[in-house]
Amino acid sequence: MEKTSVVYNGVSVKIYGTADPDKVIISFTDEISAFMKIKRAVIKDKGRLCNGISCMIFRYLAGKGIKTHFIEQLSDTEQLCRKVEVIPIEVIVRNVIAGSMAQRLGLEEGVVLKSPVYDLCFQNDALNDPLINDYHAIALGLADRKELDEIYSVTSEINGYLKEMFEAAGITLVDFKIQFGKLPDGTLVLDDDVTPDSARLWDMATGEKLDKDRFRHDNGKVGDAYRTVYARLEKLLEPCE
Ligand code: 5GP
Repeated sequence: MEKTSVVYNGVSVKIYGTADPDKVIISFTDEISAFMKIKRAVIKDKGRLCNGISCMIFRYLAGKGIKTHFIEQLSDTEQLCRKVEVIPIEVIVRNVIAGSMAQRLGLEEGVVLKSPVYDLCFQNDALNDPLINDYHAIALGLADRKELDEIYSVTSEINGYLKEMFEAAGITLVDFKIQFGKLPDGTLVLDDDVTPDSARLWDMATGEKLDKDRFRHDNGKVGDAYRTVYARLEKLLEPCE
């Protein structure tokens, strides 16, 4: 399928329109960024690894009955997806204390939470996706109560399936960010992607970080970490054809 216009020009992902107005092509680059895109680098092969990881995860979730925008993998770095009306809320799921939760609340990283924490963030790059709550989301017209209830319920299911999947791959799913969108008929679907850019993944045996925190904190071997996640998931799940 031919790419037409550029719909979104991100650092690690570009989204293109196609001749079919209901479909888009998502293309993963080898670029990585952090801290409001101030810190940037190129990690060789990252586009292939992130596209492959996200394709495997979205196929796995679809197999569990989760509705997603994903249609098929087109190439090493590209996937075909349904075009959605994006709900401008980032949903963060936390199973283990880390990152901004540890910083904001002065808590120790690595402590397993008694139950998952769901944070909502208003998607706005210039403001660094600030934390909001249900009242903001409803009052600002980002989502209504019924949509939020569905988002929480599907997010909880996704967390359960992903925790189980990563555990089988010897990886602790510490936290992750997802996003939802609506199809033209109003159906809520999982949008965006799930990769080591958007999830904290720790090796269960060694505690080694296998995600973007390696880049954020200059730990090195970012590509190797993403390759490990890809290889373990590939062993567990069939890669997309
Ligand atoms: P934190 O709030 O601790 O910075 O992030 C929590 C989780 O959500 C981490 O796994 C982080 O990578 C992910 N996350 C938060 N905001 C974004 C974002 O804007 N883009 C991506 N790709 N991931 C995010």
